[in-house]
Amino acid sequence: MQSRRTLLKSATALVAALSLAAPAIAETNEPLAVVATFSILGDMVERIGGDHVAVTTLVGPDGDAHVYQPTPAAARAVSEAEVLVVNGLDFEGWLDRLIDASDFNGARVVAAEAVEPIAYEDDHEEHTEAESHDHDDHDHEEAVEAATHDHDDHHDHHAEAGHDHHHHGAFDPHAWQSLENAVVYVDTITAALAQADPDNAGTFYQNRASYVAEIEALDAEIREIVADLPASRRTIVTSHDAFQYFGRDYGLTFLAPQGLSTDSEASAQEVARLIEEIREHNISAVFVENIADSRLLEQIADETGATIGGTLYPGALSGPDGPAPTYLDMMRHNPTTLAQALGS
Ligand SMILES: [Zn+2]
Repeated sequence: MQSRRTLLKSATALVAALSLAAPAIAETNEPLAVVATFSILGDMVERIGGDHVAVTTLVGPDGDAHVYQPTPAAARAVSEAEVLVVNGLDFEGWLDRLIDASDFNGARVVAAEAVEPIAYEDDHEEHTEAESHDHDDHDHEEAVEAATHDHDDHHDHHAEAGHDHHHHGAFDPHAWQSLENAVVYVDTITAALAQADPDNAGTFYQNRASYVAEIEALDAEIREIVADLPASRRTIVTSHDAFQYFGRDYGLTFLAPQGLSTDSEASAQEVARLIEEIREHNISAVFVENIADSRLLEQIADETGATIGGTLYPGALSGPDGPAPTYLDMMRHNPTTLAQALGS
């Protein structure tokens, strides 16, 4: 009895000794604390980082990052983050204030930094038929240029990019709406995670490889989905200008009463012009967005006799039970919704 108790005691002592030694090991295995500004980036970081990252996403599913107001909890999360992943291109207008309000000492990663951004022309005034044709030609040239870009050459223009495309509101921030850009995002995030946690760099690059393979397969799938859309159905109406990159990649034209941000007000003139275009192009369906107020689009649909073709996901994932719980689900959902509503 006595000896067994002693044995138990020494076993307990051994466990205690082991657990004293444990923290040093546990520390290197602790997941990297990463904050992502919105759900799409959060999903990408989780795909690349796997078990080696603990991701806090500031603007969650169905949340609108354009009008986000940082909370004290967000500032705390940023203070504790080792890596902060942001979109850039002036998408997160609230970011500098948030960082000022926190004790952030980690690495800031600008996911869109090496992307070739689309210059945003505010054509919301004095829009004429001639201008609209010029614009279409321009988009086409950009699409051709984009199509000839090799995915692997982005490292070359990584260094030169970043400085000259941060003029306020000069570029469309919704760059994730291009799968080609998504590869650039994934490469930028992978490199940053590998730098912050070199022990697990091999895993991050392995995850990157399978993720990029899925992105490229989805790109091919989307090309097939939109290939069936007749030329007369390739002008698409949504709430805000969030699909210029998507339109460039797949030969679609997107029109919206609101500008680059859901924060902007649609002018009466802009709405009237859009109604005219819907009639002129015989547009049969318009599309609401998961993050935007649908009332204006519903009025426009009423006015023109167009139907609501479905809900598109411009800049936020859905919850787990929705149609777009991951970035790749979202990118598949949008063209599938368009094809279902507009297909012949
Ligand atoms: Zn947007």
